[in-house]
Amino acid sequence: MTNDIFTDAITRLDKAAEYANIDAEALLKLRTPKSILEVSIPVRMDNGSLQVFKGYRVRHDDTRGPTKGGIRFHPNVHLAEVKALAFWMTCKCAVVGIPFGGGKGGVIVDPKKLSRLELERLSRGYIEAVADFIGPETDIPAPDVYTNAMIMGWMMDEYSKIRRQRTPAVITGKPIPLGGSLGRSDATGRGTYYCIKELERIRGWNPEDIRVAVQGFGNAGQHVARLLFADGYRIVAISDSQGGILRNSGIDITCAIKHKNAGRNVYSERSVCGCPICGSIECHCKTGDDSNGSSITNEELLELDVDLLIPAALEDQITGDNAARVKAAVIVEVANGPTTADADDILNSKGILVIPDILANAGGVTVSYFEWVQNRAGDYWTVDKVESRLHKIMSLEFNAIHDLMTDRGIDMRTAAYAHSISRLGKAIACQGTSQFFSASPDGKPNAENEATTSEH
Ligand code: NAD
Repeated sequence: MTNDIFTDAITRLDKAAEYANIDAEALLKLRTPKSILEVSIPVRMDNGSLQVFKGYRVRHDDTRGPTKGGIRFHPNVHLAEVKALAFWMTCKCAVVGIPFGGGKGGVIVDPKKLSRLELERLSRGYIEAVADFIGPETDIPAPDVYTNAMIMGWMMDEYSKIRRQRTPAVITGKPIPLGGSLGRSDATGRGTYYCIKELERIRGWNPEDIRVAVQGFGNAGQHVARLLFADGYRIVAISDSQGGILRNSGIDITCAIKHKNAGRNVYSERSVCGCPICGSIECHCKTGDDSNGSSITNEELLELDVDLLIPAALEDQITGDNAARVKAAVIVEVANGPTTADADDILNSKGILVIPDILANAGGVTVSYFEWVQNRAGDYWTVDKVESRLHKIMSLEFNAIHDLMTDRGIDMRTAAYAHSISRLGKAIACQGTSQFFSASPDGKPNAENEATTSEH
């Protein structure tokens, strides 16, 4: 990738525009974020010293509704990344047809180095800093990497104190007793799972024959692995920030999740690398045929000879440097932006199907939308209602995009962007296009205006 991540992200617009119903001016509007806020957050540390953290909130586009997107706590957060993540949120909300635009936030911090009290002060400090920028009708945050339900609860509470009224709809992904939705915690992984089930039907797969590798074993990665494992898929490799494990006869995902989350503080202190394939008396992997797995790096995991590769960690994992060595038949992007634009061309030339992030991980924001609706109505749904509505949306949009891909002979990412920007284009055009504004009062094109535009 030669460009910054935001510039790389918006290159997908041009390619998709050819297959979408979108005006050139609407495309122009989508090229730049609506507004950007940079904040500094002073936090009193437990040892009495003051530290000042830098944070961002970006609202990319709100034509289809209030902007919506997570808050990331990570040492590598930077503005171009937050802008790219906000842009992807705009496209994602349009892919699944929910009435939101795209936003995103982030704080440059290694949250694992903070105490619980410091983490709470930072979370509340961030909301204090962005309180005039967010709101249930303007911009609605949610969890992302290294933020979770408890942090969302603190943030909602802080916003409510500032506004002097309880405002659950300002943030989603909250704990259930504070107004969270049933089914939100596994919604991202579940949405991905529904996409894979559609592909299974189309391709006539037998789950036991499908070898899967999952990079990133956090909220999103664990749930998709759990659901696939329960259906008989063979998960042969998993990883986290410290590295990964490989076991050809399959990893017992129930056991790996138990190991990873055991004694969990705010963040998991255990790595899947220590998952005792085996060595643990509890581990079911031990009873399998090839008892011992082996360690692999995150880079090696991406190049494994598997049927399904699921990047579920961070962006920029499959790039122009390693794409040629990727052997998976299908890549399902649970992470946002794991594949760079130059890697796309290589993967496409190898015939690898990529189910793109803006579709594959859209289950999270879809159930966040359900949470926002429930908060505003004061009427809470059963988990069955949440899951069946999510299932309906994910399969409908997956099939619409798959059909567009097949009919037009294009890759699935281009089809997903075309599907998304057609919806965005329609909404932007409702506010008037150059054709509308250059027409004379009787509705005929204004010759003067036409002449003016054609001369320049
Ligand atoms: P999380 O914090 O729960 O988990 C992140 C996981 O990635 C952890 O297991 C961590 O160890 C691992 N990781 C970090 N750096 C890594 C590296 N360099 N290599 C391999 N693994 C690494 O985060 P999450 O919510 O599961 O988010 C994961 C991805 O999914 C992100 O790209 C996020 O934007 C995307 N996503 C999440 C949601 C959601 O609802 N949580 C929704 C849509 C998209």
